[in-house]
Parts: sequence; C-alpha cells; structure tokens
Amino acid sequence: MATTSCDVAVVGAGLGGCFLALLLARRGRHVVVIEQGPSIPSAGADFLKPPGLRVLARHGLADLAGRHGIRRDTIRYYHDGDPIQECRFPDGGFLIQPYRELVELIYASCAMEGVEFWFDASVDDIATDGDLVQELTLTDGRRLRPGAVVGADGSRSVVREVLGVDQVVTPYERLIMRVATVPLTAGIAELNRLYFSSEGWLAYLYPLDRDEARVFVGLPPEDDRMIFEDGIPILMDQLKKFVTDSFDAFDVLGPASWQRIKVSSLRVGAYHRGNAALLGSAAFACHPMTGMGMSYTLRDAEILADCVTAAAGDQALLDRLLHLRYETRRADHLELIDYGDALAGTFHDRAAYLASFRPDLHIHGESRAAALQPA
Ligand SMILES: Cc1cc2nc3c(=O)[nH]c(=O)nc-3n(C[C@H](O)[C@H](O)[C@H](O)COP(=O)(O)OP(=O)(O)OC[C@H]3O[C@@H](n4cnc5c(N)ncnc54)[C@H](O)[C@@H]3O)c2cc1C
Repeated sequence: MATTSCDVAVVGAGLGGCFLALLLARRGRHVVVIEQGPSIPSAGADFLKPPGLRVLARHGLADLAGRHGIRRDTIRYYHDGDPIQECRFPDGGFLIQPYRELVELIYASCAMEGVEFWFDASVDDIATDGDLVQELTLTDGRRLRPGAVVGADGSRSVVREVLGVDQVVTPYERLIMRVATVPLTAGIAELNRLYFSSEGWLAYLYPLDRDEARVFVGLPPEDDRMIFEDGIPILMDQLKKFVTDSFDAFDVLGPASWQRIKVSSLRVGAYHRGNAALLGSAAFACHPMTGMGMSYTLRDAEILADCVTAAAGDQALLDRLLHLRYETRRADHLELIDYGDALAGTFHDRAAYLASFRPDLHIHGESRAAALQPA
C-alpha cells in the first residue's frame, strides 16, 4: 500500500488534535489526523472556562463557539444544603457547550484549511530510529511518514506507550461519578449549583441547552453499589438531604438513566521525545471538578504549533524547542492535577474544601478577593 508523507501526523481527532491540526494548517503545514472512530468523538466535557475562551478568541473561534452554547458567570456552592460561596467568572464568564459541538466547530474550520482526516484508522505500529519517529503503519496497512507526530489520542495513548514515557494513573476511587442528561427545569436553568454533603456526596446541576440539563452525582463506592448495582431505590432520598435549592429537579431526576464515568488523574514523566509530543488527555488528566482540562489543552496546542512552526522541519531543532517550551507545561499541569486532588479529597469537609478552593486556578488570573463573594 502507498506511503503518504506529511509535515505532522496527529493521532486523535478530539479537541486537542483538531485544534492543533487547525493551527498548523493555517500556517501552511500538511497535517494528517488519524482517528480510530468513524468521526470526531461524541462524548466529553461541557465547560470551557475563560482561559480556553481566550485561546479560541485569539484564533477567531470564540464567537463561533459562543453562538450555540450558554454563557454563565456564576457557580453557587452548597454544603449540607447551605450556600457557602459563589464563584464568579469575569469578562463574559464561561461557556457551556456539549463537547461534540465544540469539536465539530473546530473540525469544520480544519476542513476549510485542507487538513486531511483519516477516520476508522488506528495506529498499528510506529517505527522509530533512535529518538525519532520515522513511520506510522495503520491497521489497514496504510503508511504515513511524518516530520513530526503528536499523540492526541486520549488517556490510553498508543503514542505515549511507544515513546516509553513513565506514567502514573490514579483512579479517584473514593468518589464514584455518575452522569445523566435530563429535561431542563426552571430551577436548573436559573443558576449552576454544586452541592456537597458531609456524607461524601456531590451533585452538580446545569443547563446544557434550551431543552436539556446535565446532572453529575458523585458518591462513595459503598453507596454506589447499594443504589446503582443492588437497585435499592433511595437515590432521591439521599439527594433530598443536601440538594436544597433545585426544588423542581426531583421531577426529572427520578426517571433519569445514570451512566458511570471512570475518572483518574494522569501524571507522566515527559511530554515529548525527539520529533514526537503528547497533547491533551494523552499528556495529563486532572479531576473534572477543576473544569480546566480543555483550557490547558488549547493553550498547549498553541505552544506545540509554535514549536513545530519555528522548527521548520528541522527535527533536532524541534526536539530542543519542545524541551525548552513544551516540557515546562508539565509544572502547570502538575499544579492543576494536585489542585483537583485537593478538591476531590476535601469536599465532604466544608472548612477543608473552602481552604483548598483556589479562585486563581478555577478562573485563571483572578485574585481570591475579586472572584469570591459571600453567598
Ligand atoms: C468526566 C470528565 C469531565 C470533564 N469535564 C471537563 C470540563 O467541564 N471542562 C474542561 O475543560 N475539561 C473537562 N474534562 C477534561 C477534558 O475532557 C479533556 O481535557 C479533553 O477532552 C482533552 O481532549 P483530547 O483531544 O486530549 O482527548 P479526547 O477527546 O479523549 O480525544 C482523543 C481522541 O483520540 C482517539 N484515539 C484514541 N486512541 C487512538 C488510536 N490509537 N488511533 C487513533 N485515534 C485514537 C479517540 O477516539 C478520540 O477521538 C473532563 C474530563 C472528564 C473525564
């Protein structure tokens, strides 16, 4: 089968892969995106915070993204039913938009810039020469010879495996997460509310669009087993103990269908080797309570695109640039991952949670005093 040459092969057509492909194609690079699925991924995050919106704005995409999404500027937090704080987001707030819609917008822009997408295509083998990736062989036999490779292939990244990067995956086992999509009610539409309880539960309710809402429930493993596996119908009773202000939510939560989401943190020992780099969930994962994974990924894609462009096809120079400008991102990510751990580990304890809450990381750039108001 024929071998295709390109400047950059991006493995994975999620937010990170599509956005990087767009930035590189706009700078005249020939980019091939290899995606194992039949199209861009359908499930993922809903919240894009101000730092991510600023990245999109720099590339003329923020208005496009905002057109269909919902803008919010406040999240109200409760503990054991009492309001404890409000987190306010300045300058237009944050965006709620289902992941697929956001990625689709970027994907549509990629198509206009001539990015090649190879769907239903999975990487079978990656041939290397020393630290340099030479060739990718796909499961259907096609071959790709790229100048650089980016593994934007999610938490089980094959590119990460081939690079031999050390990794530490830590599942958040003390908090089982469930999600349901339900009809929107007036109470959920009014305000994003995040409830915690000293019994180790959380519930987060927010609108998704004009018709639907998303509800996350986090609970201890023993309660999850009892309610979701043994089928003991006390979910509503448990939620009513601490979900106090979302009065009409119980009308829609009863018949909801709850899916389990496995959540882990990921810390890795390096973000690149030679002419290959990791991006997005292939490089790091933090607890979703930070709401920042996509924002950091978009910023990382900008840095990667700058490195690839500046290297202009010189692989030794690319290696050096990635070392100097991209590896340094690991410190920012580790700070965010540690922060997510702190949030996930303290929310049952009101004082400890408030002490670990960092408006600067939640919002980016805002001082605690400016961002937090008493509820
Ligand atoms: C429950 C949860 C909630 C979250 N909520 C938020 C939030 O509200 N806000 C926020 O900013 N972040 C959030 N995040 C983080 C956010 O989802 C990630 O930062 C973001 O999805 C990273 O995008 P990505 O492109 O790296 O990965 P992905 O979207 O996972 O894309 C990876 C792509 O690679 C493809 N792929 C995998 N292996 C191969 C292969 N071998 N060959 C070809 N293709 C392959 C996959 O099919 C997929 O399309 C959340 C995460 C979780 C787990």
